[in-house]
Amino acid sequence: MVLKMSKLACPCGNILRDCGQDDTDSNWGYIIKNKEWFDYQDEVSKILSGLFEAYKTGKHIEWIKNNCPIYSDQPLESIISDIMTRLNLELGVCYAKCNNCNSLLIQSNKHENKYTRFKKEEL
Ligand SMILES: [Zn+2]
Repeated sequence: MVLKMSKLACPCGNILRDCGQDDTDSNWGYIIKNKEWFDYQDEVSKILSGLFEAYKTGKHIEWIKNNCPIYSDQPLESIISDIMTRLNLELGVCYAKCNNCNSLLIQSNKHENKYTRFKKEEL
């Protein structure tokens, strides 16, 4: 599989967008291992607990400046979204579905631009 400039070439000749290029494209996504998902949930819970605890003690402005300096003057929703997005970037491997041959291309390893193709077979 060849990856050039955020494009992924399926062996059938179709060119696909790489993960993260368009969040409205339903032909790609991530496959997340159970352990990664539960670790993610634990980390989000820990961080949000810290934020809520800071609110209870009136130290939330300081907490936000220390943990989300870019968003220090943003609404709480933006701050939480930023936290979740930062943690989410490390989750899973990418998959893309070819809309020409219906193959599924799955990233071989996280942080590698190698993909394995799985052809569609009805069971
Ligand atoms: Zn294809």
